[in-house]
Amino acid sequence: MGRTSKDKRDVYYRLAKENGWRARSAFKLLQLNEEFRLFEGVTRAVDLCAAPGSWSQVLSQKIGSPQGSGHVVAVDLQAMAPLPGVLQIQGDITQLSTAEDIFRHFEGCPADLVVCDGAPDVTGLHEVDEYLQAQLLLAALNIAAHVLKPGGCFVAKIFRGRDMTLIYSQLHVFFSSVLCAKPSSSRKASREAFAVCQGYDPPEGFLPDLTKPLPDPSYNRGLNQSDGPTRSIVPFVTCGDLSSYDSDLSYPLDLEDGSEPKYTPRHAAPHLAPVPAGLHIEEDVTAGQGDPSPGLRHQHSGHIVPA
Ligand code: SAM
Repeated sequence: MGRTSKDKRDVYYRLAKENGWRARSAFKLLQLNEEFRLFEGVTRAVDLCAAPGSWSQVLSQKIGSPQGSGHVVAVDLQAMAPLPGVLQIQGDITQLSTAEDIFRHFEGCPADLVVCDGAPDVTGLHEVDEYLQAQLLLAALNIAAHVLKPGGCFVAKIFRGRDMTLIYSQLHVFFSSVLCAKPSSSRKASREAFAVCQGYDPPEGFLPDLTKPLPDPSYNRGLNQSDGPTRSIVPFVTCGDLSSYDSDLSYPLDLEDGSEPKYTPRHAAPHLAPVPAGLHIEEDVTAGQGDPSPGLRHQHSGHIVPA
C-alpha cells in the first residue's frame, strides 16, 4: 500500500529515515527498553515478524556480551535485506515448520528475549482484527515457550480490546510479571500496545505443544484468571518521553534554515544523530494536545536515540 502524505510527515517516520532505521517501529522498542531494561544481560534474542527489520537492527546493536556480539534470529513471512549479526528465517510463525527451524537454531542454547511486532493484514473489522492479532500473539507465545530460558522475557504487540483478559490470563500462566505498555511513538489513535512479560516461569510439567494454539487450561495454576474475582487485571504503562514528539501530529517537512532533510540509506548502520533543529510543532497545536509544557519538558540529551 502506498504511503499517504500524512505518513511522510510523521515525525518518527522522518527520524527513522534520518537515523538509518528501517522503520519508525525502532523507536517503540527503544522506548520499551528505556522503561523495562529489556536488553540487560541479553545475548540471544528472537525477533518474530521482523520485516523490514528495524527491531532486528535495534537488537543487533544493543544486545551482546563484552566478549562478543549478541545473536539475533529474525523471522518473517517476507524476505528482508540482510543485517550483520542477524540470522534470517523466511516463514509463517503459525506454522510448525517455521517454529522447528527456530528451535533447531537454538538447540541447547535458550534465548533470553523473544519479541513479536507481528501484525496481520488489517480488515477494518475490529473484532476480526483483534482475533487475528491474538492468534499471532499466541503463536509467538508458543514459540517463546519453546526457546526462552527460565526468567526470560517476551514482548508482543497486542490490540487493546474487550477480550484481552483471556490473553493476559494465558500470559500470566507463563510469566511472573505481565503488563501492557504503550510507547509514546505508537500513535495514540491506534489500539496498538505491547504486552511486556518478564520472568518466564512455566508451570511444573509444562510441555510446549505447537499443535495447540492455547496452553492447556489445566496449567492455569488453579485460578480462573479470565473471569470473576481472580480475573487478571494488567497494569497499563506509557513509556518514552511523553513531553517529546507527539506521534499523532504532523510536523513541517522543511527545516528552519531552509535546508532539506538528510536521510541515511536503509542499508547503512543507524547512527545517533542529533535531533534536527528545525523540527518543531506547528503553531495551531495547543498545549495539552501535543505541545510540551516547558516546565514539564525533560532534560533532552540532544539525541533522539538513547546511546
Ligand atoms: N518490527 C518490524 C520492524 O521493526 O521493522 C515491523 C513489523 S511489521 C509491523 C509486521 C510484520 O508482521 C510484517 O512484516 C508481516 O509480514 C509480519 N507477519 C504477519 N503475519 C505473520 C506471520 N504469520 N508469520 C510471520 N510474519 C508475519
